[in-house]
Amino acid sequence: MSVADVPGRIDELRAKLRRHNHAYYVLDQPSIPDADYDALYRELEALETANPGLVTPDSPTQRVGTPPASLFGSVRHKAAMFSLDNAESPADLDAWAEKVERSLGRVPQGFVCELKIDGAAVSLTYENGVLTRAATRGDGSVGEDITANVRTIKSVPLKTMTDAPAVMEIRGELYMPVSEFERLNEEQAAAGDQVYINPRNMAAGSVRQKDPAITASRKLAIWTYQIGYQEGGPAFATHWDSVEYLRELGFPYNPVSARVADIEEAKRFVLESEKTRHGEGGLDYQTDGVVIKVDSLAEQDELGYTARAPRWAIAYKFPPEERTTTLLEIMINVGRTGNVTPFARLDPVFVGGANVGMATLHNEKELQRKDVRVGDTVIVRRAGDVIPEVVGPVLSERKGKPRIWRMPATCPFCGHPIITPDGEARAKCTGGFSCPSRLREWLFYFASRGGMDIEGLGYKTVDLLLQEGLIKDAADIYSLTPADLLGREGWGEVSTNNLISAIEASKDRPVPRLLTALGINLVGPTVSNTLVREFRSIDRLAAASAADIAAIDGIGAEIARSVTGWFADETNAGLIDRLRRAGLRFEEPELEGERSDLLAGITLVITGTLEGFSREEAKVAAEQAGAKVTGSVSKNTTALVAGANAGTKLAKAESLGIQVVDEPTFVALLESGPAVL
Ligand code: NAD
Repeated sequence: MSVADVPGRIDELRAKLRRHNHAYYVLDQPSIPDADYDALYRELEALETANPGLVTPDSPTQRVGTPPASLFGSVRHKAAMFSLDNAESPADLDAWAEKVERSLGRVPQGFVCELKIDGAAVSLTYENGVLTRAATRGDGSVGEDITANVRTIKSVPLKTMTDAPAVMEIRGELYMPVSEFERLNEEQAAAGDQVYINPRNMAAGSVRQKDPAITASRKLAIWTYQIGYQEGGPAFATHWDSVEYLRELGFPYNPVSARVADIEEAKRFVLESEKTRHGEGGLDYQTDGVVIKVDSLAEQDELGYTARAPRWAIAYKFPPEERTTTLLEIMINVGRTGNVTPFARLDPVFVGGANVGMATLHNEKELQRKDVRVGDTVIVRRAGDVIPEVVGPVLSERKGKPRIWRMPATCPFCGHPIITPDGEARAKCTGGFSCPSRLREWLFYFASRGGMDIEGLGYKTVDLLLQEGLIKDAADIYSLTPADLLGREGWGEVSTNNLISAIEASKDRPVPRLLTALGINLVGPTVSNTLVREFRSIDRLAAASAADIAAIDGIGAEIARSVTGWFADETNAGLIDRLRRAGLRFEEPELEGERSDLLAGITLVITGTLEGFSREEAKVAAEQAGAKVTGSVSKNTTALVAGANAGTKLAKAESLGIQVVDEPTFVALLESGPAVL
C-alpha cells in the first residue's frame, strides 16, 4: 500500500469495525465471524502502529466495546472495565511473556490460567454483601443497567455468604449453557423468531431483554473471575488469593483454572483446554480461549493498562472455526441413495484446521432460507470432524442482484428428472444406478469400513474401475482379476495383490455388513443387525413380506416397505444372485447370531480403536451378549469400552465417574459376564 493510501484505508477499516461493533454489541447479531473481525482489527492496529500520528482517540483500537444503547438506564463503573489483548499462537504468548518481563525488569512470580468463557461481561455491585446493581460493560466506563434481569439468574448471589466489604464490583461472564442454547434456538426457530448465531450472542441478548421474565426463562449462569473494585475488606497479594475469597463469599469461580509458574505451563493448559472448547468432557459451556493473567497484584499495578486492555493479561484465542470466503459456484451431488445435495464450491479458506474448498448447503429449502447466492461472501463453518457447511451470506457485502439458485429439473450426471417427493426436503435423482454419480457413491459406500470394508477401494480406485469399464456394479468387484489392474498407473504387483486379497477377505463379512453395504434406503448398520438377528439370511429376508418385517421390534412400516421394494426390483434381484455366486456369506451361523442374557441390564458405550474388533463388530458382540449399546455417555451408562485414541467420550465418562474398561476386560465381559466389572 502506498503511503498516500494509508489514511483512506484506516478510515475504511474504522468504519467497518464500527459497523461490526454495533451489530455485535448492540444488536447481538454479528454480521461476520470473529476471526474476520479480528483480521480487520489487526490490520488497523498495524497501520496505526506504523503511523502513530494517525491514531485518534475515537479509533476502535483505543476503545472498549461501544457506548451503551439507550434501552436501559446507564451505570458508571467505579473502575473501568477493559477488553483483553489477543494471542493467536504460542509464539504470541512467548512475545507477551517477554514484554511483561521487560516491563517489570524481572521474571513475573507466576500466572493464573482461566478458561475464556464465551459469554457477556457483567459487573455486579454489592453493598455490604447485598447485590444492588448489575451492569453490562458498555464502552468500559458506562454500561447498561440490567439489574432486574440479572437478579433472575440463579447462580448470581443476591447476598454474599459471609460478611463482605462495604462496596465491591465483581466482574464475571454471563453465559448460556450449551444445552440451553440448543433448546432455545429450536424453540425460537419453531416459533419463527430470531435464531442466535452462538451462545455468546444469546447470552448478551438474553440479559438485554425489556422483560425480566424472559431472562428468567432462559437458564443463564455466571462465572465470576475478578474483583474490579473494593472499599474495605481484606487486601490480597495475588489474583489467586482474591478469587479464593470470591469463592468464600459464595461466588462461582470456574474450577477449571490453574496457577502456573511460567508461560510453558500456561501453554500446556491452553492445549488441554482446547479439547473442551465446545463443552466436551461434561462442561456445559463454550469457551473461545484461555485468559492468562499475571498473578501478583503488585506486578499487575506496575504493568498497568493501555487505553483498551490490561498489560498484565492476555487472551489466547482458539483457532477459528468460522471464516468468510467467496462462494464461486453451487453444484449438486447425487448420493448413494439418490438424494440430491447442493454444495458450494468456495475460494479455499483455512478454517477449523484445514483448507476448505467445498461445503454442504444441505438442501434447496435450507439454501433458500439462508438466502445464499453465487458470488456472495459467505460464512463457512468447520468444527471438529463435522462436514464443512455454509452458515449464511454476509448480506452487507453482496454485490448487485445475484440470481436465486434453483434445483435443476434434470440430473446433470444422467439426465433423468430430479423430483422432490411431497413433504420431503430432499430432492431425488430418478435415474437409479444408471446415474454415474449415484453409482460411484454407492460403490464407495459398499467398500467402506461400515460396509464390506475392502481396504484400498476408495474413491480413486472406484473412479479408475468405472472409467476403465471394469465394473458396473458391486457384484463386478468380485470378478476382478490381477490382470485387470496390473500395469496400470499406480498398480504394481504389491498393490494389486493387496486389493485382490482384500476383496477376497470381504466375502466372509458378517451378513449385517453385507446388508448395510447394499445401500437400501433407511437400512443402516443398526437396522441391518436387527433384521439379520431375526431372519439370519439374506434369502429369508428377501422372501419376507412387508408385514413380517414391520412386526419386528424397532422396525417400522416405512423401513419394511423400503426393504421389500428393494428386493422386488429385478436389477437388485440379479445383483443378489451374482453376489451369492461370487461366494459372499449370505447366512449367519446359528451360534454367532444367538442372543444371550449374559449382559442383560448392562448399557455400554464403545469408543476409540479396538484391535480385535471394528466398532460395529464390538457393538454386535455386546448386543448378542444381551447388552444395550448406546452412542453417548450418560449417567445411565454402565461402562465405557475405550480403545486407543479415545477422545471426548472418555473425558465425559471420567467426569461422570462412569467405569472405563479396556479391550481385554471387554472380551472377558463378553465371556464371563458382569462379574468382571
Ligand atoms: P474479548 O472477548 O476478546 O475479551 C475480553 C472479555 O473476555 C472480557 O470483557 C470478559 O468479558 C471476557 N472474559 C471471559 N472470561 C474471562 C476471564 N476468565 N477473565 C477475564 N475476562 C474474561 O474482547 P471484547 O472486547 O469483549 O470483544 C472483542 C472480540 O469480540 C473481538 O476479538 C472479536 O472476536 C469479537 N467481536 C466480533 C465482532 C464481529 O462482528 N464478529 C464485532 C465485535 C467484536
